[in-house]
Amino acid sequence: MDERLIAQTCFPSRYVQGPAALGMIPRIAKGFGGRALMITDPFVADKVLPTVQDKLQGADLVIEKFGGECTDDEIDRLVAIGKERQCESVIGFGGGKTLDTAKAVSAYMQVQIIIVPTLASTDAPCSARAVIYKPTGEVVRYLDLPKNPDVVLLDTELIVKAPVRFLISGIGDALSTWFEAESCMTKGAANSTCGAGHLHPGTMTAYALAKLCYETLCEYGTLAVMSAKAGACTPAFEKVVEANTLLSGLGFESGGLGAAHAIHNGLSELEECHKYMHGEKVAFGVLAGLFFADKSQEVIDKVYKLCEDVGLPTTLADLGVKEVTEEKLKIVAERTCVPEETIHNELRPGLPSQVIQAIKAADAEGRRRKGM
Ligand SMILES: [Zn+2]
Repeated sequence: MDERLIAQTCFPSRYVQGPAALGMIPRIAKGFGGRALMITDPFVADKVLPTVQDKLQGADLVIEKFGGECTDDEIDRLVAIGKERQCESVIGFGGGKTLDTAKAVSAYMQVQIIIVPTLASTDAPCSARAVIYKPTGEVVRYLDLPKNPDVVLLDTELIVKAPVRFLISGIGDALSTWFEAESCMTKGAANSTCGAGHLHPGTMTAYALAKLCYETLCEYGTLAVMSAKAGACTPAFEKVVEANTLLSGLGFESGGLGAAHAIHNGLSELEECHKYMHGEKVAFGVLAGLFFADKSQEVIDKVYKLCEDVGLPTTLADLGVKEVTEEKLKIVAERTCVPEETIHNELRPGLPSQVIQAIKAADAEGRRRKGM
């Protein structure tokens, strides 16, 4: 058996999205056996739950507030509660770390999991991966779960109320999906299913969905951001929430990652970039990746225009790097090109010198277009 010849694509079992979709939780939880352990953000517990009681009526819920960090101790604490109260499923309701904790708790309890994101800011909800942290905030390890979530459920009436910056960041993350999947497809590189060290490429389904993700953002991205600013849950908003969550999730996991996420990890080395969101840094990684991969003027214009229209960064200054020095570029480029990084899924060799050229060009193009 040669893993490189065996394609693999992973999906959540069920994806549910729409206004007032929370109302489906009682029925779904009942189908999983009855009582559910609901792990929520403190914000969700205090501000959201009291307003959605009617939608959750009839569900047998044990509600526990998440402690704030996805650590082994926090997971153990919640597993103990779930077992003691004889919960037959786990519901994660909130942001990324709450959802990762809920995924881990359900895996250890060996029960079904319902993931309920309150933001459309990243592509993590659909994946089989959870990131475990130390109580001090550093990453300890990636926990690769035996399966993707049983249900991912988004209530768009709720999501449209979140600050619009989260949706925009999600667009930045989703914008990387096709370019990275395309590189992996062309090179036959491994995707992100089943954790590090495996060699499976994706299936044609995964690449087709990654392409649909990009086309959806180009067509509806600007309309979705405008809708969200108006608090309007329009069809365009629905489409982009799906692109950010489902298409981007399937695309990164089963299509694979490339230059954009590697450059994101490089940018994260700079102190100035720390206050920016994942998708905002990924968006600049996409722009630099376009120069790195030698894309056409037409593609470059289209992607810059989308970033400008929705409000994603197009220059290093937009990411807080006011003074660009060779030293900073070198730090970013060297981290981008460490051996385990996904830039090596690109056709061209992932050399720090080439990454520096790409970042300089992307920044200059962003400034030129702004008339700077
Ligand atoms: Zn990402």
